[in-house]
Amino acid sequence: MEQTINILKKHGISPSYQRVKIFGYLMETKTHPTAYDIFAKFKSEIPSLSKTTVYNVLSALKEKNLVNEVHIEGHETRFDAEMRQHGHFKCSVCGQVSDLFLTQDLNQILSQKLVIQDIQFNVTGICNQCLTLQNNN
Ligand SMILES: [Zn+2]
Ligand SMILES: [Zn+2]
Repeated sequence: MEQTINILKKHGISPSYQRVKIFGYLMETKTHPTAYDIFAKFKSEIPSLSKTTVYNVLSALKEKNLVNEVHIEGHETRFDAEMRQHGHFKCSVCGQVSDLFLTQDLNQILSQKLVIQDIQFNVTGICNQCLTLQNNN
């Protein structure tokens, strides 16, 4: 909580209760939630929370480079506070999205010197868990 507040302050975002809650959640979760997932998670805990507020908080965080948008399917925007260079794996069976880290920095792989601002690299397939379930049937 304290750490979340400090990061928000350092980036010029005043740490309202809702912002601290949403950003704190994004930092601890690995599930890459959508704005709706975040709203659904907190709506009973924070009755005053609206979907608009969630969208506003997310866009403020994105503007300060504290979260990334993840686009795997065109209709769906997910959010991620993992800011190291990485891509995503989506399981086509259970729908879980997990992080995929490259063993090499992309800058070292590219033949041209480019400034990378955003990476969307997505892999779909079947996760370990679902594979085990399938093999046991
Ligand atoms: Zn799966
Ligand atoms: Zn991620």
